[in-house]
Amino acid sequence: MSKLEMQPSPEPEARSPSHLFYLSSLRRPLVDRAEGIYFWTKDGRRFIDGSSGPMVANIGHSNRNVLEAMKRQMDKTTFAYRLHFENEPAEELARKLASKLPAGMDRIFFVSGGSEATESCIKLARQWAVVTGQPKRWKVITRFPSYHGGTLGSLAVTGDDALAESFTPMMRVMPAIPAPTAWRDRDNLSMEQRGVRYADMLEEKILAEGQESVLAFIMEPVGGAATAALVAPDSYYPRIREICDRYGILLIHDEVMCGSGRTGKFLGGDHWNCRPDIVALSKGLGSGYAPLGALAAPMRLVEPLLAAGGFQHGHTYAGNPLACAAGLAVLGEMDRLDLIANAAAMGDVLIDELKALQKRFSFIADVRGKGLLLGAELLADPETLKPIDPARKATQRLLDHAYARGLIIYGRKVKGGVDGDNFMVAPPMIITREQIGEMISIIGDSLEALANELDL
Ligand code: PLP
Repeated sequence: MSKLEMQPSPEPEARSPSHLFYLSSLRRPLVDRAEGIYFWTKDGRRFIDGSSGPMVANIGHSNRNVLEAMKRQMDKTTFAYRLHFENEPAEELARKLASKLPAGMDRIFFVSGGSEATESCIKLARQWAVVTGQPKRWKVITRFPSYHGGTLGSLAVTGDDALAESFTPMMRVMPAIPAPTAWRDRDNLSMEQRGVRYADMLEEKILAEGQESVLAFIMEPVGGAATAALVAPDSYYPRIREICDRYGILLIHDEVMCGSGRTGKFLGGDHWNCRPDIVALSKGLGSGYAPLGALAAPMRLVEPLLAAGGFQHGHTYAGNPLACAAGLAVLGEMDRLDLIANAAAMGDVLIDELKALQKRFSFIADVRGKGLLLGAELLADPETLKPIDPARKATQRLLDHAYARGLIIYGRKVKGGVDGDNFMVAPPMIITREQIGEMISIIGDSLEALANELDL
């Protein structure tokens, strides 16, 4: 949990002090069990998981078929080191995953989380450049604000001043261009013209940095926590590809949050038929059943590394049979229950409901996202982009109001980023129309309580 990743305020609890130092002085209710889109606590309360945790539980909690597949695997072996043995779940999951990715993205490398996935993408790109005689290429251009992970390598491409500031002497913070917040711009350009203008900032940055030094560009096709589901104008995506091609720069798509079906397509980038060079996945791939992540790349990037002795990178738990059996069963359930289609259909219902709330509450400045990765930005005056006074802690208060009413939604503020408060709604992809109604009614009541409290 980053210090700006918001959580509901603590409740007074009469429990013994915790040794878990991430909890600091905060105490949460003790979770008892979870099923579908719901959590139950030890003290008998029920919560709707309106954000799938931090956008993880894509197929919902306690799916019986996934649990059974994991139990079957547990009875065989939970761990076999990839340098000693191959294992069937990893092989099958790689095959299944490749079949869902753009043509040619069929070389898979497993890891155990999102930061490992993005960092592995960067290391693959760099090693490819070295073995193909381009050792001067090392800079990875990113966007600001953005979140690509918490390890030092992934943090170096994370556009968030507060997260990076203590660590900057220990890493090279990479160059950044602004995230495409086109809806905020007050100019005479069309959205499509703005999309091109934001993409062209990449070219300007490449030239300013020296094109021979730039290795890659990393971006989320549908923004996640740092931008509350920001989507660029359609014209942005092909223009970015064109610029990367022109300068021989690798395009890395961080699909850790927006991938694995959540947006109504398997990859967020599939909405624009994007052709990234490397893709990072995690979160929904394991759906909370096991720590799992992956990078996917085409043979043309992997082959030179193999010829030069292999990818100089790896993590102990990577590709372990239990996590891969879980991931394989998760993708199996996604297919069996047609969850990607449901995410698209229910996403349409949910965004319409959020837009209806926008009509009711004037401080909802923007509603956006794709499928079931949706966000809203809150401003005191959407016309002039005047933010709500940060001292009022609007995001925090909204999360608290929802939590008190039994709904978990997500919110995060980025220091130096877009200064609006925001919240995200990203329920499991199994959600029904009725459950969306239940969720929207709580969000409406919570916004009402916020408006009264802050006089919005
Ligand atoms: N990339 C994106 C887009 C993310 O949203 C996250 C986590 O929120 C990460 C990378 C890092 O993932 P993890 O927390 O599993 O290391």
